[in-house]
Amino acid sequence: MEVRRQIEVSGIVQGVGFRPYVYRLATGRKLTGNIRNTAAGVTIEIQGPPETVQDFVNHLPAEAPPLARITSFVVHELACNGEADFRIVHSDAGEEVRTLISPDVAICPDCLRELFDPTDRRYRYPFINCTNCGPRFTIVRDIPYDRPSTSMAVFPMCPACQAEYEDPLNRRFHAQPNACWQCGPHVELWDKSGRQISCRDSIAEAAVGLSAGLVVAVKGLGGFHLAVDASNKAAVALLRERKRRVEKPFAIMVPDLAAAQEICEIDSAARAALESVQRPIVLLRKKSSCSIPEEVAPFNRYLGLFLPYTPLHYLLLREGGFRALVMTSGNMSEEPIAIDNHEAVRRLSRLADYFLVHNREILLRCDDSVVRVSGEVTRQMRRSRGFVPVPVFLKDEQSPVLAVGGELKNTICLTKGKHAFLSQHIGDLENAEGYSFFGEAIEHLERILEIQPTIIAYDLHPDYFSTKWALQQNLRLVGVQHHHAHIASCMAENHLEGQVIGIALDGTGYGTDGRIWGGEVLIASYEDFKRAAHFDYVPLPGGAAAIREPWRMAASYLAHHYGRDFLKFEIPFVRQLEKAKADVVLRMIEQKINSPLTSSCGRLFDAVAALIGIRQQVNYEAQAAIELEMAIAAPGSSDAYSFKVLSGGDGRIIGTGPLFEAIVGDLERNVPVGEISRKFHEGLINTFVRIAQQLRDEQGFNRVCLSGGTFHNVYLSERLEAYLSEAGFAVFTHHEVPAGDGGLSLGQALIAAAGTKR
Ligand SMILES: [Zn+2]
Ligand SMILES: [Zn+2]
Ligand SMILES: [Zn+2]
Repeated sequence: MEVRRQIEVSGIVQGVGFRPYVYRLATGRKLTGNIRNTAAGVTIEIQGPPETVQDFVNHLPAEAPPLARITSFVVHELACNGEADFRIVHSDAGEEVRTLISPDVAICPDCLRELFDPTDRRYRYPFINCTNCGPRFTIVRDIPYDRPSTSMAVFPMCPACQAEYEDPLNRRFHAQPNACWQCGPHVELWDKSGRQISCRDSIAEAAVGLSAGLVVAVKGLGGFHLAVDASNKAAVALLRERKRRVEKPFAIMVPDLAAAQEICEIDSAARAALESVQRPIVLLRKKSSCSIPEEVAPFNRYLGLFLPYTPLHYLLLREGGFRALVMTSGNMSEEPIAIDNHEAVRRLSRLADYFLVHNREILLRCDDSVVRVSGEVTRQMRRSRGFVPVPVFLKDEQSPVLAVGGELKNTICLTKGKHAFLSQHIGDLENAEGYSFFGEAIEHLERILEIQPTIIAYDLHPDYFSTKWALQQNLRLVGVQHHHAHIASCMAENHLEGQVIGIALDGTGYGTDGRIWGGEVLIASYEDFKRAAHFDYVPLPGGAAAIREPWRMAASYLAHHYGRDFLKFEIPFVRQLEKAKADVVLRMIEQKINSPLTSSCGRLFDAVAALIGIRQQVNYEAQAAIELEMAIAAPGSSDAYSFKVLSGGDGRIIGTGPLFEAIVGDLERNVPVGEISRKFHEGLINTFVRIAQQLRDEQGFNRVCLSGGTFHNVYLSERLEAYLSEAGFAVFTHHEVPAGDGGLSLGQALIAAAGTKR
């Protein structure tokens, strides 16, 4: 007696070796039937003795290929038929899946072994890949995802590659980027004017350049990197000077885990993140014995480390015997990363000495992802290569919405069914290149994901380029308050509904009263929010200038509490103030000239950092806050500064009078800055716990969501989460999308979609 079952599997099950896997699973058990791709995923029909079929059904999800992600698995009974074998049925292109395209994936262990096997026909071939690894998202031009729709279309396969591609038992069955020395792309070394340098081995020659302290632009999966030998101080300094990047940390690529362990503290969770197929940059604590020069990441206890992820990276590192290479995005400061060979030469010729290029076109740029590990949880700082376009899986179906995100660290989000697709890191829209990438990304993602949005969600800030773009579109528009979007983003990835207490802390977000918010406690749902508490407003003297020059914020806070009397304080900050400049700033504040009011938490961090002498001017976003966190003396007592919380017309007002009084007192007593920083962090944490407790007592909410860029601060986020949990709250944080503005578009989309349900 035989039985027949139909199994419908959805999720990421195409382009990841799923059909050959099922084929082997079925034929190994002598079962008959077939498998085909469908619009939702794959459908399998399987027939044989009941216990063998059951065994097949049990094993199927458990042993699925590494890149597959099964989101639903449904089994039906069918009537038996007389098939004699198990077949892979090729569907019409029209029926192929249109939704879930796999992200780009690091080279797999099998391909890596072949890469360095002198007997393998792909020995040292820089584009070796298989169904378990290689480029995907960045080479897709259109759907369905097969070779003619990718940038591999111009490389017809040789007979040997074609045979692998057609053999269901081969690791390269339907591997769209399959290629070899005979038929695939190749690398070249160019000089800074774009002329090919004739040499026997381009990769070896590039390694010679790196060893000599030169800057080499290296074409990767999602764009160009600028590389220098990380152990060469002069080369690092040269790159900083050319890139006009003063102190912002550089990420470094190390050849293997052992090299990473020499440099940084690595526990099991960090190791898993480093070795994951996404191969993100992982922020790790430097060892005291770390041999990497301080210039790579000045004033920072952490280093961004990643392992090689393309065959070309492995060849380059091995060729030069490098222990670490700086690998930073191939761009000028905040512009998008270069992807095209000639574009790279045009934009980077003053930055790089050599260009290691190849002729496999990158169709959509995708920067490296950045994560940090806290406890067992990996948290996204920048969600991009390796993760995009895997959707955030939502609790409920949503209308098709396009959410256009914020201004800095921009991402966009498209929703479809239960999927929210966040784009790769688009970056800062303030520069023309960034803005045009924003438009390209929207168009490209709408095409390959087949989403025609009916609603556009945008930030309320009237000056954001994303907002201006949205307001020109002829669709239903929904404006979303910035911090409401942060909290909704945290709710969405945690599948929450109803109302929560939302603590949203960041640098800048446009408020419904036209002021700059950033230290906010909200009572929020997708449908609505109410402001429950915020920092007392202070002037931001000079607007953007106050963000670049934290000393202005310190002066603003001191003037807010003491007027000009603070100029008599016997503290280093006052002694070192340039009197003429300070006078201009104080007059701006007093006469309310170009001094918008802000409740920003980021600016409060800036003020404290400047006041205690850590940083008066910043060279990159959030530098003062990062260095303030890094200054914390550990371990320490739980002494904390206090804040004064008063009820006001617009929720509670968190006053900073007692905080500044205590800091000034500690400065007069020469208390070390590390101690002051810790007491400041502890004070913030206590204050937010107390406010949450009061809101729970009054309104009965017990769920707290933490969101906003300030939560990239490890000390603050770990402690606040722990203290809230101890106080009995259910605490929800970000893990799939960034807490900062990179995760904003997800919240915008959910809020806009909720509005349409009413
Ligand atoms: Zn592979
Ligand atoms: Zn070939
Ligand atoms: Zn924000």
